[in-house]
Parts: sequence; structure tokens; C-alpha cells
Amino acid sequence: MRYDIAIIGSGPAGISAAINATIRNKKIILFGNDDLSAKLVKAPSIDNYLGFYDISGKDLKDKFKTHLDEMKIEITKAKINNVYSMGDYFSLMAGDEIFESSAVIIATGVEYGKPIKGEEEFLGKGVGYCATCDAPLYRDKKVAVIGYNHEAEEDANFLSEIASKTYFIPMHKNELNLNENIEVIKDFPLEIKGDKLVNKLQLRSQDLDVDGVFVMKDSASPKALVPGIETEGVHIKVNINMETNIPGCFACGDCAGKPYQYLKSAGQGQIAALNAVSYLDKKK
Ligand code: FAD
Repeated sequence: MRYDIAIIGSGPAGISAAINATIRNKKIILFGNDDLSAKLVKAPSIDNYLGFYDISGKDLKDKFKTHLDEMKIEITKAKINNVYSMGDYFSLMAGDEIFESSAVIIATGVEYGKPIKGEEEFLGKGVGYCATCDAPLYRDKKVAVIGYNHEAEEDANFLSEIASKTYFIPMHKNELNLNENIEVIKDFPLEIKGDKLVNKLQLRSQDLDVDGVFVMKDSASPKALVPGIETEGVHIKVNINMETNIPGCFACGDCAGKPYQYLKSAGQGQIAALNAVSYLDKKK
């Protein structure tokens, strides 16, 4: 099945895009998670969201969820690892699943932290963001997983069935659910090193000899997600219509630039959706 519009990200930008595209009768698929956005549920009090003075992030999330439910918009719980422009349509990869859409809206937010030294240099040369995609490359090899979220534990468990040794470096203090053969190292990653390919992960108090490093964050860099997309620093370059350099590919919210705000994200989600609708209508 080919969707009209695939929307990646269930924060305010993605939800607003999904609502507006649905109102315009487009067949959409919205990718995200049950919490909608970690940055939403974590906010203690929000004073600048129109109509909801002093609302907690959790309560605003519940309101967004009710809105989606009322409009019968479902969230497909999958992490999209790559988006490929196929000319007339887009192919979206989520592990071993493939989705197709005629237009795509990127609403993936940004990671506030900087990439680890060496992360971008060795991307595809030992650094990966998707265990399901890359695990076969590490059969009987040593890997380290730097985990910023719970999904990282699932990926580490999967890798530990294939790799000869799996290290897990947790970047949060929550309880871990890991296979027994995984070695947990509570340390801080400083640099990913190598020659042509990765061979070392330097931590604050020790070095690990590894063949691969998986950096599992909520959102990956736009260039890793959408090959060929133009960026400005960590942001996707967009024009006033939220169009990227790739025809049919739109971006909105934090991933499209500052200020990082809920209302601006929701507004840009609406602009992206309406322009994606115009793009599709012009193609008819
Ligand atoms: P996000 O909210 O980051 O949502 C992106 C979603 O996409 C996430 O759920 C992510 O998991 C998902 N995603 C990413 N990549 C993929 C993928 N490949 N496949 C599937 N899903 C993916 N702003 C204000 O205006 N007022 C405030 O009071 C305020 N308080 C804040 C308090 C805190 C503690 C924090 C952290 C932020 C606060 N902000 C506030 C900023 C606000 O949270 C962000 O600007 C806003 O959430 C951005 O929305 P977004 O939809 O662009 O991205």
C-alpha cells in the first residue's frame, strides 16, 4: 500500500501535520511512540501554549492524544531508519519493514547534545544507528551500544545474539533490561576512534576495543535519516513552505530550526502538511 503522506515523528510538529493532512482527506501514516514526545512529557509546566496556560507536559500530551483519537489517527510505533527518494515516491525503512509514500514530512525533533567525537566521521564505517539493519555485519565481532533510551536495550539484546561481545554504556539512570551476556559499563563516551573502520571506543576511564559502535538516540542526524538532504548545522534546510531540497520531502518543528518551541512546531507542522497536500494535488 502506498500512503499519500508519511509523517515521521509524533511530537507537536508531526501530530499537527497528521491532523491537517487528515482534514484534507489524505491517506497518512504517522510514525512515533505512545509518549508522543519525551520532550513533551518531561516539561513540568508550560506557560506559552495558546489556550492552555500553566499546563503540565503530561496533560498537554493527553490533550494531543485525545485529539488524535477523536480523529481516528493512529500512531504506527516504528522507528524509521532511512528515507529514500525514489523519484516519484519515497521508501521508508523501519528495520526489515518497508513503507511507501508519495510525500514525506520529517518531524523528528533534534538531539540537544552534540554528536560524540568521531561519530559523524565513522558513520557507516563502524558507527550505526540501527541494530536491525546492521547487526549481520558484526557476526562474531565486538560491539558497543551507547544507549540513550529503552529501545537501545532491545537493540543491544538483539546484537548480543550475533556479536561475540556486546558492551552497553547507559546514558540514563533508569533500570536496564539486558541479556546476561551483555557487559554494562557505567562510563562516559569521549571519542570513537579507528583507522579506515572503527576499532576503539574511548571512555572517560577506559578504552574498549570494538568493531562497531551503535549510538541509540531518540532522533538521528537528518543526513543519516534522509541521504541527500540539505542541512544547516544540525537542522534541515527548509524554505518558508517547509520544503526541503528534495521534491516532496518537507520538514517541520525542532529539526527545521530554532526556536525550539511547541507552538512553533505545531504551526510548522500545519504549513508542511498543507504544502504536501498542494504538492500531491499538483502531481495529479
Ligand atoms: P519532538 O517533540 O522532539 O518530537 C519528535 C518525536 O519524533 C519524538 O517522539 C521522537 O522519538 C520521534 N522520532 C524521532 N526520530 C524518529 C524516527 N526516525 N522514527 C520515528 N519517530 C521518530 N517548548 C515550549 O514552547 N514551551 C515550554 O515550556 C517548553 N518546555 C520544555 C521543557 C523541557 C524539559 C524540554 C526538553 C523542552 C521544552 N520545550 C518547550 C521545547 C519543546 O519540547 C520542543 O520544541 C518540541 O517538543 C519540539 O517538537 P517536535 O515535534 O519538533 O519534536
